[in-house]
Amino acid sequence: MSSKDIRSILSGGVKKVSGTKSSTVNSLITTKGKLLNDIASEPLWRTHGTYLITNLPPKSSLIKTFGNDTKIKIAAFDLDGTLVQTKSGRSFAISSDDWKWWDSPKAKSSVLEKLDQVIKDKYLIVIFTNQGGVVTNVANKSYNNFVKRVTSVIKSLNAYIKNEEVPILVYASPKKPAKETDSTKHTLMRKPNIGMWKELVEYVGNNQIDEDNSFFVGDAAGRPNDFSDSDLMFAKNIGITNFKTPEEFFL
Ligand SMILES: [Mg+2]
Repeated sequence: MSSKDIRSILSGGVKKVSGTKSSTVNSLITTKGKLLNDIASEPLWRTHGTYLITNLPPKSSLIKTFGNDTKIKIAAFDLDGTLVQTKSGRSFAISSDDWKWWDSPKAKSSVLEKLDQVIKDKYLIVIFTNQGGVVTNVANKSYNNFVKRVTSVIKSLNAYIKNEEVPILVYASPKKPAKETDSTKHTLMRKPNIGMWKELVEYVGNNQIDEDNSFFVGDAAGRPNDFSDSDLMFAKNIGITNFKTPEEFFL
């Protein structure tokens, strides 16, 4: 790789990094130090153009967990305000460690206990999150903070259930860069639109999802104090009738 290529990537040439083999990513480490080193150590994270961020395990781990011949039940969750909340009390995380598991004084069981049960009940956990403050640039702080934050969420769950191999999938809809004039793909990926779900279907395989027995949990449910109903409408637009708010699900 020429130094010109490296400069291009570091200045935001996301496409060249997207889906690169780890050997290519590793070659960037020496030129950019810790920032890219941290990202390269989380090899499942990928950017797709500027419109999608994913954390997907190898398909082999899905087959190992769920077998080859049964439809997979999806336990789908929003992230912020649903699985986690900020430690700082702000609406948006201010750093990669500004998170804690969602909690409510009324909740009888913790999020971790509930997720453990969901995994025991043979659901595939998938997180669908709109991240309007994150750009798909591996050299950008917002991207680094997001990847590190969600990686630590997943590791915390893995540690609780004492299983590092349980696949946890993440789909995140990032901010559209101002310089891009075509917003079509970004709009499709943003809840309540179902582009992220379609990506999941493509990943798991057509007709491989048991939609009748899948569910979605999100806090944007159009309640009087909710900022939006994008989670509720996302579930409706997919055709998932089993929608719950975090209060309903974790109580
Ligand atoms: Mg939310």
